[in-house]
Amino acid sequence: MDSKERPDYFWEALADKALRGEILTREEADAVLQAPDTELLPILQAAFRVRRHFFGVKVRLNMLINAKSGLCSENCGYCAQSAVSKAKIDKYGLVDKKIILQGAEKADQLQAETYCIVGSGRAPSNRELEQVIEAVREIKERYPMRICLSLGLLNEEQAARLKAAGVDRYNHNLNTSANHAPNLVTTHTYQDRVGTVKSATRAGLMGCSGCIVGTGETDADIYDLACELRALDVESIPVNFLHPIPGTPLGDRREFNPGRCLKILAFFRFMCPAKEIRISGGREVNLRSLQPLGLYAANSIFIGGYLTTSGRTPEADYEMISDLGFEIDRGEERAEQRNEAPGELPVQVPGAGVAGGG
Ligand code: SF4
Repeated sequence: MDSKERPDYFWEALADKALRGEILTREEADAVLQAPDTELLPILQAAFRVRRHFFGVKVRLNMLINAKSGLCSENCGYCAQSAVSKAKIDKYGLVDKKIILQGAEKADQLQAETYCIVGSGRAPSNRELEQVIEAVREIKERYPMRICLSLGLLNEEQAARLKAAGVDRYNHNLNTSANHAPNLVTTHTYQDRVGTVKSATRAGLMGCSGCIVGTGETDADIYDLACELRALDVESIPVNFLHPIPGTPLGDRREFNPGRCLKILAFFRFMCPAKEIRISGGREVNLRSLQPLGLYAANSIFIGGYLTTSGRTPEADYEMISDLGFEIDRGEERAEQRNEAPGELPVQVPGAGVAGGG
């Protein structure tokens, strides 16, 4: 299927398919991913119809803490924390529980529905897992937020321990297709990553797994990855756009324009219509002034920065959500804690300064 302008009903038919739960064909995927930028608005309009059906105009906020930085044995080419990276980043072992709790307090202030505790490394040690579990128990006693952990490869026994401790979600990104994965990392396999996602979901944790695009993958790779994520039935799909960091093997790669990013977000909405699609790392540098349009396809963002790069101020994101006429999704858990029905939640988009300095 060649790249060309199409009548609006073509894109709307893709939305109809998504709403019926049908998967896009490879040709239809190519039509979206290779569409000329003049087709952006009709594509986003169709994606928005799907997004609105499942999520209305709510935007989920996630805040992450880099609880263990650098010092990783793995060689993921996009990552500033890898063993082969020469990027100048902070390097430290698992932070004290007090720091993780302070992060939870900040996440609560920022109205994040989910607090993501992220640690570098191939896999967590038992001692690290215990330390994090202790912190999670305390956070759960104090705050109504969801907890997502991202600590590397995980087996089923470890996943069961996390579930028992109250962890809600486990993140482990497949990142790309099985075909392209060896071009990005050779110290672990694609199947290692798939196995971790399966361990997490078998233990009853919500699965979170997504991609990093802009690493030299083809559109076929993006399609294959989306098919895999769809088959794994993960609840949350972070879409990272490569933010090339000097000193990493992919540090000089520049692939994107904002239109390409928007088409990728719309594609994931069509492929995984009822799932949380999160605009993740690289949002600011790749979508640039078109960031608001991303929320017509995606329904979730990170607030307050990323692992080794900073993002916008929270106030800028609150303003973006408010200007779109969208609302922060406070989540059913918070509603229950306040003894309110989810539909009765007050919309809170604080003004500048309310959420602190980010
Ligand atoms: S992505 Fe994770 S496993 Fe890969 S190098 Fe970075 S911290 Fe290590």
